Amino acid sequence: MEYPGNNIIMSGNYFSFAAIAFMILFLAFVHFNNGGFTTRTRKLLLVTVYFALAGCVVEVIAASLNADPDVSDNLIVIFYSLNMLGMFLSSMFFDRYTYAVIIPVRKNPGRSKFGVATDLITIAYIIALIINYFTHYAFAHANGELIMKPAIYILAYVAPLFFLFIGLAAIFVKRRELTRREKIALISTHLLVIFGAVVQGLLNDRVLFVSFFITIGFYVIYTVLETPDYHRLMVTNRKLADAEKRANSANKAKSMFLSSMSHEIRTPMNAVLGMNELTRMTLDDDEMSVEEKLNTISTYTDNIHSSGEALLSIINDILDLSKIESGKMTIVEAPYHIRELMNEVRDIFAVLSKEKDLKFEMDIDESLPGYISGDRIRVKQIVTNIVNNAVKYTEEGSIKVKMTGKRVDDVITYDIAVTDTGIGIKEENIDRIFESFDRIEVKATRYIEGTGLGLSIVKNLLDLMDGSIDVKSKYKQGSTFTVHIPQKVLSNELISDYRAAKTDIDEGRPEFEANGAKVLVVDDNKTNLKVAEGLLKRTGVSVKTADSGAEALDDIVKEKYSIIFLDHMMPNMDGEKVLNEIRTNPSDYELNINTPIVVMTANAMEGIKDRYVKDMGFTDYLAKPFKYSELIDILSKYLK
Ligand code: ADP
Repeated sequence: MEYPGNNIIMSGNYFSFAAIAFMILFLAFVHFNNGGFTTRTRKLLLVTVYFALAGCVVEVIAASLNADPDVSDNLIVIFYSLNMLGMFLSSMFFDRYTYAVIIPVRKNPGRSKFGVATDLITIAYIIALIINYFTHYAFAHANGELIMKPAIYILAYVAPLFFLFIGLAAIFVKRRELTRREKIALISTHLLVIFGAVVQGLLNDRVLFVSFFITIGFYVIYTVLETPDYHRLMVTNRKLADAEKRANSANKAKSMFLSSMSHEIRTPMNAVLGMNELTRMTLDDDEMSVEEKLNTISTYTDNIHSSGEALLSIINDILDLSKIESGKMTIVEAPYHIRELMNEVRDIFAVLSKEKDLKFEMDIDESLPGYISGDRIRVKQIVTNIVNNAVKYTEEGSIKVKMTGKRVDDVITYDIAVTDTGIGIKEENIDRIFESFDRIEVKATRYIEGTGLGLSIVKNLLDLMDGSIDVKSKYKQGSTFTVHIPQKVLSNELISDYRAAKTDIDEGRPEFEANGAKVLVVDDNKTNLKVAEGLLKRTGVSVKTADSGAEALDDIVKEKYSIIFLDHMMPNMDGEKVLNEIRTNPSDYELNINTPIVVMTANAMEGIKDRYVKDMGFTDYLAKPFKYSELIDILSKYLK
């Protein structure tokens, strides 16, 4: 049937037919060529195309019903409304697509402000269409004609174009973060659609070619930004960029670590070597009396000792951290008294504070339970670390250690707060202080020794004990570090009930005499051999030394020993091989078949003692560097 105006409308429809056919082909192609990819942008693009397709289909239906007098005017209004809604939603989703390309990884999950705003605009748009159905303020249908009022331009053009302009503005703002390819695809698509809409709106609103332009836009976007190959490339690029960032920062951390370590190690090393040189000079000094020489040398050796301890503590920190990082750090629980531990802390730091003219106070709630089970060494390490920092980072004023606590059933959580009046920490740096190797305010603290490992170890140890740490600090005024350490209560004994056991004050020189015993020491390092020999001779044992595995075996065949100290790492024949040789040929070494063989090694990683004793079969284990008292412990255990 022929109707007036049908030709124009149908000629306008040709564009829509073409667009519909094109979009269906496009969707089929995209689904077929998906390459297993479902990305956020791809999904948004597909939703955009589906709404555009729906919009076009109703548009064609509306245009063909337009001139049919049998169709009710209201139905035609509904079709046109749906057509506009389809186009509106399509442009809104295209805008979301644009945002998804511009900001590939959103920082905050959940609805953004922008998302909420578009939801509200969409609801307002739907309400506007519904109101039009009843009031015809924008468009109506009567006598086979669409009656358009100015407000239709807002619904049909301004509203959808609004999203396109917002999209263009966003592209402009983020232009530096976009690749050339993204910019070209997004800008050309936006301009194409805006151009189509303007031409249709201004020149001939019966020729429906905006949808045709939209389809061309989709095609451009898809081929440039959404093919599986391109996505794969982008994923790979992102991974590469991430890997590069990680490698760079690991490398930076490593370099900083090496430079700070070499500084930290050189400082006490310098003291050791310097003091040693001074000792030699003193010995050669003809103007000094023997007594003067002895007094001077004695202060030098004290300094050498404390520098050696400082070196050891750096190395222990590194070992601790590597244990923590490899997940091998374990908490070993045993009974102890918290008062005894706190007294030790007080004894160390009262002296150190006095040297810096700082007031040192310790305030302990004596009504808390005191006899507990936990890892005493690690708890002491935690408390020592934070008190040590307080003393280190304070130039004048005071250090206060306050211990309170809460008991729940048989768990007491001690809250130990250490307050100083030192340099303080800026708010923005507080999180950083718990990172390994990270030292803040490097300029201000340059002269203070430290590796940046302490607090990271403290935090990790506390995590292992289900404890925690918090920090309050005011820059340039002082800080309070509070640790919360849960420990198992073993009895009703209170802290105030503690009576110090009589301890050996000079723990470096325990008395031990083992005259008549014969000891063999094997080590390829001549200096270490001398150290062991010198210390052992003080106990009255007779010492034989060997500087290789082969020499040791010669001795073991010929002579009976009361105990053998055997180094592990030696060239040619190491300690383990020596031990195996003895154990597998008992008849050759029958003189020493029952002699305890103690491995003496600088290998001090977690669990290493078990490996030496349980797996390799050594009788016991002595870690280098060892103290005289540790040597005595071993001797008194085996020389009865
Ligand atoms: P280190 O003291 O060896 O540098 P830590 O891990 O113990 O390492 O501490 C990390 C950083 O935290 C320190 O370099 C210092 O800047 C800051 N810090 C720690 N304790 C204090 C404190 N009591 N007052 C001020 N700054 C502190």
